[in-house]
Amino acid sequence: MENSSDLIVVGSGILGLATAFLAHEQGRTVHVIDSSDRPVGSSIQNFGHACFTGQADIVQGVVRDSRAGWLRAAQAAGFWAAESGTHVPAMTELELQVLREFSEHREGEVTLLDGRGVAGAIGNPDLPAVGGAHLPRDMRVDPREVAPVLAAWLARQGVRFTWNTRVTDVGDGKVATTRGEFAAGQVVVCPGYGLAGLFPELAERHGVRVCTLVMALIDRPERVRRDLGMLTGTSLARYDGFAAMPSVPALRAELAEREPELVDCVANLMATGIPGGLLVGDSHAYSATPEPFLDEGIAELLLDRATALLGIDRPVVRQRWLGRYSDSPETNLVLERPDTRTTVAVVTSGIGMTLSFGIAELILNGGEIPGF
Ligand SMILES: Cc1cc2nc3c(=O)[nH]c(=O)nc-3n(C[C@H](O)[C@H](O)[C@H](O)COP(=O)(O)OP(=O)(O)OC[C@H]3O[C@@H](n4cnc5c(N)ncnc54)[C@H](O)[C@@H]3O)c2cc1C
Repeated sequence: MENSSDLIVVGSGILGLATAFLAHEQGRTVHVIDSSDRPVGSSIQNFGHACFTGQADIVQGVVRDSRAGWLRAAQAAGFWAAESGTHVPAMTELELQVLREFSEHREGEVTLLDGRGVAGAIGNPDLPAVGGAHLPRDMRVDPREVAPVLAAWLARQGVRFTWNTRVTDVGDGKVATTRGEFAAGQVVVCPGYGLAGLFPELAERHGVRVCTLVMALIDRPERVRRDLGMLTGTSLARYDGFAAMPSVPALRAELAEREPELVDCVANLMATGIPGGLLVGDSHAYSATPEPFLDEGIAELLLDRATALLGIDRPVVRQRWLGRYSDSPETNLVLERPDTRTTVAVVTSGIGMTLSFGIAELILNGGEIPGF
C-alpha cells in the first residue's frame, strides 16, 4: 500500500529522528510526518550540549545507549559531534566541594582541575576560579545542523518524509493528517511542546506545560574553543546527578545570597561553542500558553554573567530568541502507549538532546523504563 509503512514517526525533532534512525538500522520502512517544512522545534533552539554525566544515577543506562546512538548517527550522517566533554569552573569553595563530592561518587567520570587549569580550558586564563572539573564523557553537537542533516541523510537512505502536514489524530496504526490518512504497523508520536495539540488529556494528566528560555548567540573570540561546553554553579544546583550531592542545599543558599537575580529567573547559566559563535543562556519560565516576549533585563543579566566568566568585555550579540521545550513538574519523560500500536514520547525537561537516542531505544525495544 502506498500510504503504509512499518513505522510512522510524528515529529522531526531529535527524538523523532533518533527513533527513525534506530528503526532504519533495524531494517524497518519508516515514514516521518511533520507539520513544519523543516525541523524548527526545541531541537534547533538549544545548546547542543549532551550532558551525559550530570544526569541522575538511575538513568545512566539510558545515557550510555544515547551516547552510543549519537556517535553512530554522527558517523553515518556526517554531522559534527565533539567528544570534548564539559568544563565547570568553580568560583567558590562550595561549588568546588560539590564537584569533589560528585567526583568521589562517580569515580572515573570526573577530572578535578585547579583554578588555572579550568580557566585555561575555557579560554580565560585570568578567571579567578578556585578550581573546577572536566567531565570527559559529555559531547557537543551543533543544534542548528544536527536535525536538518540527519533528516536529509535519512531521506537519502529511503526514509520517507512528509513535511507541512499536521497530524490531527492517531490510533490503532492509523494517522489522520491535513493531507489524508496514513497507516503503519507501529506509530511513534514525538510532538515535543506540541503534545497538548494532539493528546490534550495525556498532557493534562502529566501536568505538561511549556518552558520558555532566554537565549543568545554571540561572537566567539579565537581563544575560546569551538567545542566549548561550560556549566556553572547554577547548573550544579539543577541537573539531577549533581543535585543529589550532600553540599547542594548549602550551594543553593549561597547562590540565593550571591546571585539572587540568577536565582529569580531560574537560571542555568551555561555557554557552548558552535561554528557560528557562542550560545549563551538560559532562564526558565513556565506556562501552559507562554507569551512571545523576550525580557531584555534577563537577556542582559545572562549575557553579563556568562561573558564575565569567559572574559569577553564587549560581547557582540548576533541573535536572541525565546527557546521553548515541553516541561512537567512531575516527570522528566512522558512515555505512554495509548494502544498496542501507538507510543507517545515527550521529554518534559531540558535534557532531550542528551537522552534522545537512549529514549528512542526504549520506544522501539520496550524494556524497563527507569525512574524519570
Ligand atoms: C533553549 C533550550 C536549551 C536547551 N538545552 C538543552 C541542552 O543543553 N541539553 C539537552 O539535552 N537538551 C536541551 N534542551 C531540550 C531539548 O532541546 C529538547 O528536550 C529536545 O530538543 C526535544 O526534542 P523533540 O524531538 O521531542 O521536540 P522538537 O524538537 O520540538 O520536535 C517536535 C516536532 O514535532 C512536530 N509536531 C508537533 N506537533 C505535530 C503535529 N500535530 N503534527 C505534525 N508534527 C508535529 C513539530 O513541528 C516539531 O518539528 C534545550 C531546549 C531549549 C529550548
